[in-house]
Amino acid sequence: MAGRPGYVTLPIISVLAAIGYVYYTAVFLAIPAWLGLATAAGVANAAAYTALALACVAAYALAVTRDPGRVPPAFVPDVEDAETPLHEIKRKGGDLRYCQKCSHYKPPRAHHCRVCKRCILKMDHHCIWINNCVGHENYKIFLVFVLYAATASIYSMALIIGGAVHSAPKDEQSGIDSPRKSIIICGVILCPMALSLATLLVWHVYLVFHNKTTIEYHEGVRAMWLAEKAGGLYHHPYDLGVYHNIVSVLGPNMLCWLCPVSRNIGNGVRFRTSYDIPLSTPPPKAEKHLAMS
Ligand SMILES: [Zn+2]
Ligand SMILES: [Zn+2]
Repeated sequence: MAGRPGYVTLPIISVLAAIGYVYYTAVFLAIPAWLGLATAAGVANAAAYTALALACVAAYALAVTRDPGRVPPAFVPDVEDAETPLHEIKRKGGDLRYCQKCSHYKPPRAHHCRVCKRCILKMDHHCIWINNCVGHENYKIFLVFVLYAATASIYSMALIIGGAVHSAPKDEQSGIDSPRKSIIICGVILCPMALSLATLLVWHVYLVFHNKTTIEYHEGVRAMWLAEKAGGLYHHPYDLGVYHNIVSVLGPNMLCWLCPVSRNIGNGVRFRTSYDIPLSTPPPKAEKHLAMS
């Protein structure tokens, strides 16, 4: 069925077609018009741009195909476990979170995805552009793809503007059909794409800094409002401080932060919280049960 993970859908074809179209315009129209493909500057730019485009496609392929994270079949929350002092409970009733559709307990931060028809570990959102959920196992890959794609679209924009500016005068003299029109059309199409990618990147950098998923951001806004109404202060339990938050998403090896690999970022079932690491300022006294839907 189209739309189910594992299938090539129209949005996936659109993303690949967009990458191909922008790549063709930048390398075969804009660079020749501006720098020439036979010059050192032209070759260097074409090579750097091609490497970035390939990295983009590789990260995209991984984001599409990597399983976002399955709940282990034997998973049962250990309420007696002293090392996991925090358990997410249902907002109504206070029971441990259980998925009726999958017939298993939900680990902390896991949610049921209606499109994938199963629970996803540390679910962020279901993304139609990769026809896959973004969860614990592929969140870093997704983030790195957005970073590569945003960088590539800014680089494309620079090449396209350069190409458009430099293509007109030469062609008027030679009388050859100017590639200027094609370059400008590509630039106009690229503009909203670059803006969306940059916005998406800024949004996810914000989420990583606060160790929140998109779902937790929305639930946190509601929890904050409820806490304020009750005269309290809401504290996101997974917020360990910016550095630890980044490490928990991108991994401990700083040299691998920008690589689309997702090793060494935990099992997706148990997460460190601000209650189990010593912080310089203690977290505000809050109920250690986190109400989630
Ligand atoms: Zn489920
Ligand atoms: Zn999904």
